[in-house]
Amino acid sequence: MAKNSSRPIGRHFLHIPGPTPLPDRVLRAMDTPVIDHRGPEFAKLAKRCLDGIKTIFKTTNPVIIYTATGTGAWEGALVNTLSPGDRVLIVETGQFALLWKNMAAKYGLVPEGISTDWRIGADPAAIEAKLRDDKNHEIKAVCVLHNETATGCLSPVAEIRKAIDRAKHPALYFVDTISSLASADYRHDEWGVDVTIGGAQKGLMLPPGMSFNAVSDKALAASKTAKLPKSFWAWDEMIAMNKSGFFPYTPATQMLHGLATAIDMLHEEGLENVFVRHNLLAEATRRAVRAWGLEIICRDSKYYSPTVTGVLLPEGHNADAFRNLALERFNISYGTSFGPFVGRYFRIGHLGDTNELMLMGALAATEMTLALAGIPFKKGGVQAAMDYIVSAEKPARAAAE
Ligand code: PLP
Repeated sequence: MAKNSSRPIGRHFLHIPGPTPLPDRVLRAMDTPVIDHRGPEFAKLAKRCLDGIKTIFKTTNPVIIYTATGTGAWEGALVNTLSPGDRVLIVETGQFALLWKNMAAKYGLVPEGISTDWRIGADPAAIEAKLRDDKNHEIKAVCVLHNETATGCLSPVAEIRKAIDRAKHPALYFVDTISSLASADYRHDEWGVDVTIGGAQKGLMLPPGMSFNAVSDKALAASKTAKLPKSFWAWDEMIAMNKSGFFPYTPATQMLHGLATAIDMLHEEGLENVFVRHNLLAEATRRAVRAWGLEIICRDSKYYSPTVTGVLLPEGHNADAFRNLALERFNISYGTSFGPFVGRYFRIGHLGDTNELMLMGALAATEMTLALAGIPFKKGGVQAAMDYIVSAEKPARAAAE
C-alpha cells in the first residue's frame, strides 16, 4: 500500500502460517441464515461434516468436532485419555510443543521433554531410546507435532509409530496436525496414531474456532478409565449424540457450513494434488531464500515443512522491524518468531487456499522489503522461485502432449 494512501488497496497478503486466506466459496457457504441445531436440516449438515472429516484424517473411527481453537483439541486429547500423575513424553520441537507441554503440567500430568535446538523435527530414535529406558511403562503418552508451526519443521509420524513399536512400549501416541492437516500427507489409521489433533484455520481453509480429535480404538478404551476431569471436552457424550447428527451443546453452525464446503473443495482438487501443490510452493520458497543468501530455520532437509518456511535474517537485523515495514509498505503479514531466535527470523506461510501467483506476490514483497530495509541479500530469489515452478511444470506438460 502506498504510504500516502488512506485505504489498503487490493487484498491483504495473509502469509502467516494460519489462519490462512478464506476461499470465497467457503465464505459464501457460511453466508447463510442460521438454522435450528436440533432440526433435521442441521442433522444432515452435521453428518456430512462428521463423515467428510474422516476422509481428511483418513480414519474410519469417529472424529470429534470441537467449537474451540486448536488449543482446545490439545486439551481434549489429554483429559479424555490420561489421569493425574501420568508421565507424558513431548518432543520440544518449538513454541507450540512447549505450550502443549505446559498445558499437560497444568493438568497435573508429568511432562517430560525431549529437547531440540528448534531447527529440526522429532527424531524417532530419540523417542525409542526414551521409551526403552522406561522399563515400568510409566510413560502413558508420546506427543509429537507433525508440523511445528513455529519453526517450519515436519516430523516423520509413521517412523515414530515404528519406533514406539520397536521399543514394545504401550504408550498412547498423540499427533498435532494443526498446521499440516489437508496440506501434507497424513493417515491417522494407517500410521497407528491414537489421537490426532487438528484445527480449522490452516489447511482446512476455515476461520479459527473449530478443532478436532481423531481417535483410535485404543484411545477410546483409555477414555473409559481416564481420571482427569472433563465436561466440555468429553468424547463419550459427543460421540453418542453425533450418531444422530447432533451435539451435546450448540455447535458452530456457520463453521459447519464452511467445513462441508472446504471438504468438497479438497476432494475436488484431490488430496494428493493438494499435497503436491503445497510441496511445490514450499520448495519454490526455499529456493528463493537460498538465492537471497539467507538461511532457512529448518536446518535438515529431511524435516522441511510443506506449509511454512522460517527465514533467518543476518546478525544485527531485526525481523519484527522487517515484518512491520512489509506490512506498512506492501500490506503483507508474515509469521512472527519465537524461542532462541526471537526477533531474528520471520515465517512465510504457504498453505491453505494459496496458489503460485499468491506465493510469487509474497516472495516479491519479501525481496523488495529486504532491499528497502537495507538488509544485505543477493537479488534473484523471486527468479529462482519462478524457475523452479516452471521446471516442475515442464515434465507434466511434456507428458500430456
Ligand atoms: N499447534 C500448532 C502446531 C499450532 O500451529 C497452533 C496454532 O497456530 C496450535 C497448536 C494452537 O492452536 P490455536 O491457536 O488454534 O489454539
